[in-house]
Amino acid sequence: MIDQFGRSIEYLRISVTDRCNFRCVYCMPERGLDWIPRDDILSASEIHEVVSQLAPLGLRRIRITGGEPTLRRDVCDIVSRIARVDGVTDIALSTNGVRLEAMGTELRAAGITRVNISVDSLRPDRIAAIARRDLKFEPVRVLRAAIDAGFAPVKVNTVVVRGVNDDEIASLARLTLDLPVHVRFIELMPVGDMSDSGLERVVPSDEVLAAVDDALGGILPDIGPALGNGPARYYRAPGGLGTIGVITPISHTYCASCNRVRLTADGRLRTCLFGDHEVDLRTPLRAGAPLAPFVARALEEKPREHALLQLRTGGLRALSQTGG
Ligand code: SAM
Ligand code: SF4
Repeated sequence: MIDQFGRSIEYLRISVTDRCNFRCVYCMPERGLDWIPRDDILSASEIHEVVSQLAPLGLRRIRITGGEPTLRRDVCDIVSRIARVDGVTDIALSTNGVRLEAMGTELRAAGITRVNISVDSLRPDRIAAIARRDLKFEPVRVLRAAIDAGFAPVKVNTVVVRGVNDDEIASLARLTLDLPVHVRFIELMPVGDMSDSGLERVVPSDEVLAAVDDALGGILPDIGPALGNGPARYYRAPGGLGTIGVITPISHTYCASCNRVRLTADGRLRTCLFGDHEVDLRTPLRAGAPLAPFVARALEEKPREHALLQLRTGGLRALSQTGG
C-alpha cells in the first residue's frame, strides 16, 4: 500500500469499540456522545477478514485501540484471530490500563506483545478528575503488572494539559529511572471538548523536555524502544531503565513519514486522524466484495498533512471515536 505521496502504509490502528469506562476531559464529553449502534460495529470475524485482505497489500503491524478496547468482551478472540494472519508481525494494544491487571496474561497469550498505557497523573484525586471517573486506577501497580505479564516494550502515554497536570512532568519522567518503561509526553490536540480552549492548554514539547532535563539532571537523545516506528523522539536520563519521549502533533508535524491508517469500530478506513478522509469498508465487506479497490481509493485521498490547526474551531471527532 503506497499512497499518492509515496508513503508506504504498513500500520493499521483498529478501534474495536467507541465505548469507554473513562471520560477523559481531552477525549470524550461527559455526556451527549452518540454511541455507534451495535449492529454497525465490526464483529471479530469481520475484523479478521479486513486484516486478511490488507495483509497481502502490505499490512504488517497492528494496534488495537478504541474507546477502551478491554471493554470489548471478545477482544482476546479478535487478537488471536489476527495474530494468525500471514504477514502480520506485530500486534500492540492502547489501553487506559484499568482492566490490564485482570486481563494482561490472557491478552499476552492471545498475541499482544506490547502495550501503551495512558497515565496522565500519579495523584489519585487528579486521575479521577481527568478521567471524570474514580475507578481506583493505580498507575505504578498497573505498569508493574504489565511488565510482569511479559509485554515489551511497555509505553506510557501522558497528555500534558497546561494548568491540569504540567506540574507532574518531572515525577512522571522519574518513572523511567526505576522501571523499564517509556514515558511519552503528548501535546494536547485541540479536539472534542478541548477545541475551544485547547491551544492555550498545549504545552510545547520543548518546554516539557526542558522541565525533564532540569529535574533529572541532564537527558540525552536515545534511539527509543524497539519497534518504535512511530512519531515519538526519545531521550534517556543517566542510569535510567526506560526512556522519555515526546510526541508533537502541534509544534512539529510528522505527517511526511506517516505510515498508518485507521479502521473505525464501524468499519471505516480513515487515512488521517484529523479531517474527514474516510472510506466505508463495512458495506463491501458485508456484501462479500473485495476490499482492495476501496483501500486504494482511501489511499489516494490520504492528505499530505493534517489541517488540525486550521480546523480547530469544532467539527472534529473526539479521539475515542476515531481510534486515537
Ligand atoms: N482508551 C485507550 C487509552 O486511553 O489509551 C485507547 C484510546 S485513546 C483515544 C488513545 C490515546 O489518545 C490515549 O493515549 C489518549 O491519551 C490520546 N488522546 C485522546 N485525546 C487526545 C487529545 N485531545 N490530545 C492528545 N492525545 C489524546
Ligand atoms: Fe477513554 Fe482513552 Fe479517551 Fe480516556 S483517552 S476517554 S481512556 S478512550
